[in-house]
Amino acid sequence: MARLYLSPPELAGNELDLLRDALGSGWIAPLGPHVDAFEREVCEVVDMPHALATSSGTAALHLALEVIGTVPGDEIWVATLTFAASANAVRYAGATPVFVDSHRATWNIDPGLLAEELDAAARRGKLPRAVVTVDLYGQCADYDPILEACRRHGVILIEDAAEALGATYRGRPAGSFGDLAILSFNGNKIITTSGGGMLLARRKAWIDRARYLATQARSPARHYEHEVVGYNYRLSNLLAAVGRAQLADLSRRVDRRRAINATYREALGARPGWSFMPEGDGMRSTCWLTCALVDPLVDPDRDAILDRLEQTDIEARPVWKPMHLQPAFHGCRLLGGGVSDDLFARGLCLPSGSGITRDEQQLVIDTIVASDHADARRAQRIAR
Ligand SMILES: *Cc1c(COP(=O)(O)O)cnc(C)c1O
Repeated sequence: MARLYLSPPELAGNELDLLRDALGSGWIAPLGPHVDAFEREVCEVVDMPHALATSSGTAALHLALEVIGTVPGDEIWVATLTFAASANAVRYAGATPVFVDSHRATWNIDPGLLAEELDAAARRGKLPRAVVTVDLYGQCADYDPILEACRRHGVILIEDAAEALGATYRGRPAGSFGDLAILSFNGNKIITTSGGGMLLARRKAWIDRARYLATQARSPARHYEHEVVGYNYRLSNLLAAVGRAQLADLSRRVDRRRAINATYREALGARPGWSFMPEGDGMRSTCWLTCALVDPLVDPDRDAILDRLEQTDIEARPVWKPMHLQPAFHGCRLLGGGVSDDLFARGLCLPSGSGITRDEQQLVIDTIVASDHADARRAQRIAR
């Protein structure tokens, strides 16, 4: 069997029709009608009024930080348990990342801790320019208390929903909670354009500014006039066509990933020392990746299981290494602590792509179960 990946791209079926249309229309790059339509369609799905399609989710994050006026010396508070892109963009903007620990109920930013720390920062007279929440592994952060705390202090909320397109929190879609939000259409995400992203915002002025910065910041003049340094961050019309085909297939993909998650829970949830990432109250996760925690005292432990899966040519990985533990962010402040460290030490992510077959998922489950038996037999031999 071919190598089984964590979250490979899956075709929806009509990508080629839309691509052919894009090519036939002559709108190849950079912009065109598919970009406009893709932006409108994503706005509708996510219930946000304004959007800009970008070359990546990381570019969208960078633009989000730029358009809110981030300047060097500003603090941006970021969930520590995330993919590095969430924190890298803070550095691109010249700001200082401060990391916030997770809550066990959601694995996302701890709302109580965030509120306390914002109160303390207000008393010191040094509030962050923005807070970046992450909807981890497809599950929304606990937005009611987070929004309450941010509003009380007038702090802008940026929602990194790269992993959560299609999720809901209390009936509202992921991507609709921040003043600004970003999505990713990277190859491993729930829908893909091969590479791409989207910036969403409540204010039209933010998207207008982002569009200007993302197209090399050209001022209206016959010659090329630049008042500020711009970027080349737009999505091509061809890739937007692919994205529209993928987006139309979103709800099936979410259902499929949730079914994969349910199968893992059923097959492995009762194993001693095992538990799965909890689904918080009022939340419907996309289950972008199914994640479990394995007690280090059980045999096989997390790393032994990852070894066995690798030997079977199955890609599985530890949970994201928190940003406060990354050498690239050495010396940055951490608010709270201990939860994300523990999730990283015990957590693993299992193959969860919406295109995974029943047989492939059974192989993952069998490999995990068999590694247990092998170790039990070895233990018996040693005991004799
Ligand atoms: C994938 C991802 C990104 C970055 O998206 P790209 O499109 O790959 O640049 C940002 N944040 C999180 C949480 C992600 O998982």
